[in-house]
Amino acid sequence: MNELIWMNGDVMPLADAKVGVEDRGYQFADGVYEVIRLYEGRPFTLREHLERLEKSAAGIRLALPMPPAALAAEIEQFVARTSVHDGMVYLQATRGCAARNHVFPKHCEPTVLFYVRHLAPLDAPGETPPAALLTVADERWKKCWIKSIALLPNVLAKNEAVAAGADEAAFVEEGVVTECSASNLFIVRGGKLITHPVGPKVLPGITRAVLQQVAKQAGVDWVERPVRLDEAKAADEVFITSTTREISWVGRWDGQTFGQGRCGPVTLRLHRALRDRVARETGTLVGAA
Ligand code: PMP
Repeated sequence: MNELIWMNGDVMPLADAKVGVEDRGYQFADGVYEVIRLYEGRPFTLREHLERLEKSAAGIRLALPMPPAALAAEIEQFVARTSVHDGMVYLQATRGCAARNHVFPKHCEPTVLFYVRHLAPLDAPGETPPAALLTVADERWKKCWIKSIALLPNVLAKNEAVAAGADEAAFVEEGVVTECSASNLFIVRGGKLITHPVGPKVLPGITRAVLQQVAKQAGVDWVERPVRLDEAKAADEVFITSTTREISWVGRWDGQTFGQGRCGPVTLRLHRALRDRVARETGTLVGAA
């Protein structure tokens, strides 16, 4: 398979792409990223992802070398050249190469790159495998709204979860569930959808934002407030969201079976509504929604 990459305006085989040893992304994790889902080769919520990229870049005082519309056009063109139907675009921008120094260099060309990866098509809502969570202390920084490439705390938490037989780490800080290592977390209680506000400890997930609109249309109340771990574990339904998984219902938490052994009714309704939205926006029909 001859995978391609777009790097600073050039398209080349992924295997041939080179980044300098002193790229600040490599030495300081001085960069930001996005993951955009492709449905039948069409990017979903590309504009929203690029808006978040701009905010993340501003959060680390990085000026992107091209406006979002131009970047979007490059991504669309690149995606059309690949044969990937179900997949994702990985997009990363670092401050670029300069002699190693904590202080920002005066002159530095950012390293911007993206490439496409195949992902397994998603199952129909309700037929997705359940997610198993492991509670892990939230030891991340207080700028989790920045989609930073400095992911080591997330990576460590995820690996702790996987080593314990789970597949996602649910971060808890002072008894409150913030989000997961690579997804946002929601509980359903009394028919209401409850989730932690975005900000210092929670990434403004794009799936979360779409879900908020979808919930409104479906007449499901949306509540933003901190949720304590004991309340979450006693909820009627729990699910997590991300670009690559859409919605995964939670079936286990800290080794205990959670819920009825199947996707809960509110989760299912919302997932179906989310799928409809994807189908309408990308002009595709995915799964058997
Ligand atoms: N929180 C974290 C920490 C994440 O890494 C992700 C995945 N990027 C999310 C939430 C979900 O965000 P999105 O829906 O934009 O993929």
